[in-house]
Amino acid sequence: MIDLKFIGVGGAYAINLGGNCAYLKDKDSLLLIDCCEDATLKLKEKNVFNNVKNIILAITHTHSDHVAGIGTLIWYSNFLLGIKPKIIKNSQSFELHMRNLLNLLGVEEKFFEFVEPSNLMIDEVNIKMVSTKHTPMLESFGIMFSDNEGNYYYSGDTNDFENIKNLVCDQRIKKVYCEASWKSYNAHIEYQSLKNIKCDKLVLMHFEDDELYKLAQNDGFNVAQISVVE
Ligand SMILES: [Zn+2]
Ligand SMILES: [Zn+2]
Repeated sequence: MIDLKFIGVGGAYAINLGGNCAYLKDKDSLLLIDCCEDATLKLKEKNVFNNVKNIILAITHTHSDHVAGIGTLIWYSNFLLGIKPKIIKNSQSFELHMRNLLNLLGVEEKFFEFVEPSNLMIDEVNIKMVSTKHTPMLESFGIMFSDNEGNYYYSGDTNDFENIKNLVCDQRIKKVYCEASWKSYNAHIEYQSLKNIKCDKLVLMHFEDDELYKLAQNDGFNVAQISVVE
């Protein structure tokens, strides 16, 4: 059963909760899901980089709260850890967007590379990027993980409540990490609708603000936990 660790659980401007950013660590490999503004500092403070020789980035989409720290992470990895991060190639067009973004940020191509998700395995877990609906402006992805116990879904930012509902009802899916907002705004999952599918396998993350984070806990939802120092 995979258990993602989080360095932050806040959406867009929920700065008190930290940018929603999760990771999975194998012996010497680190999978980082999105890269919030202060991701590198937080990972360093929690000793997450210890013994890491391989860094893989799964970027769900290019909204600022999900990629603002990517330049620093790539530079820190190359210059201080001696590691060239691998970015998962979600799709051809997404790879192009990421290349353009990194180019604009002044991050040279020699400091990162793109890899097909089919070649990856972290901690005996397979990783598959799955296209999802979020905002018409950006290509967005969720992540389907699988190991010998079953499948696990990470929603990324999405407005596709039907998909989340179906996944929660699907017995092959052991866990669903899902974002939560007060309202959908046509871009997110409304908290009220999540109350109808509340169950043990549902883990809420990417909260719109502190109040919603507290309410979800009071309502008995599983919520993504901020990891402690390793
Ligand atoms: Zn977001
Ligand atoms: Zn977003």
